Amino acid sequence: MTTPQVEVQAISRTYRMRSGLFGRPISVRAVDNLSFSIQKGETLGIVGESGSGKSTTGRMVLGLEPPDQGSVHFDGAPIAAPGTAAWCAQRARMQMIFQDPLGALDRRLAVAAQIREPLDIHNIGTKAERDARVHELLRSVDLNDSHGARYPGALSGGQRQRIVLARALATKPDFLVCDEPVSALDVSIQAQVVNLLIDLQARLGLTMLFISHDLRVIRQISSKVAVMYLGRIVEFGDADDLFARPQHPYTQALVSASPAPGRRSSNRIVLTGDPPNPAARPSGCAFHPRCRHATARCAVEVPQLTAPDPQRQVACHLVAGASSQAQDAA
Ligand code: SF4
Repeated sequence: MTTPQVEVQAISRTYRMRSGLFGRPISVRAVDNLSFSIQKGETLGIVGESGSGKSTTGRMVLGLEPPDQGSVHFDGAPIAAPGTAAWCAQRARMQMIFQDPLGALDRRLAVAAQIREPLDIHNIGTKAERDARVHELLRSVDLNDSHGARYPGALSGGQRQRIVLARALATKPDFLVCDEPVSALDVSIQAQVVNLLIDLQARLGLTMLFISHDLRVIRQISSKVAVMYLGRIVEFGDADDLFARPQHPYTQALVSASPAPGRRSSNRIVLTGDPPNPAARPSGCAFHPRCRHATARCAVEVPQLTAPDPQRQVACHLVAGASSQAQDAA
């Protein structure tokens, strides 16, 4: 068995915050005991509602914030401490695409200079080689030198995200974390940027962690999918199979609400109850207040991820073979 490009083992992250301006301090567990791996050239899609811990997971995988527990390995080596030479070398191979391209760019700097920045920081190539690389990167995202001479404010949202992508690719990374990279774009532009990412991944052999609340986009780009709810993975599997046979009641509701050819709106499963709130995690199965199949057991026992078949992991008491543990202080 080959070493995964990215291996995440039992990571957790808890934040301390106040409940209200003068409220008492509380602990909010954003990510709870998460494990997964991504093979080279694979795209793992992480999907879930706001507050499910998707973005915190992406930041921990890149080493932008440390997990309280657990570990992240890249190409078999642990993520190095920020600021060290080892971390700098790892970061050249691991890049992030953020949701807001305008926020990720400097409005006062021509975009060609911004694409060039990572090459300057990592001291890659001569001046002429860096200029040539910027030209090549602009072309790789279907832009040209005239776009490079402009400032971010003079570009459309889709063009800005292409610039962010070109800059992320400057150091020839192996791994991209894309955190809601198209959710701020018009739907027609979203498809173009997602298709560009798929094309670049195939051409460059990239490994990707793609985070989105939009199942339609996750379905288009992912080879494997992790569905998150309140900091935990509730279902994990091969993308095509998971969308064809969702087994967790939360995944079933998400899939039923996602537009697909031949799917009737009358078959939609409507989720009731409050959306996930990490500051008020329900006991037992965190999804039980919204689950139409919930039983008394679900309110007191946490379902563990189990594998009903070799291609799938599901955390639900209803799924054959599921085990559980008594709800504890976590
Ligand atoms: Fe629903 Fe219970 Fe399964 Fe949770 S464990 S998803 S509440 S049936």
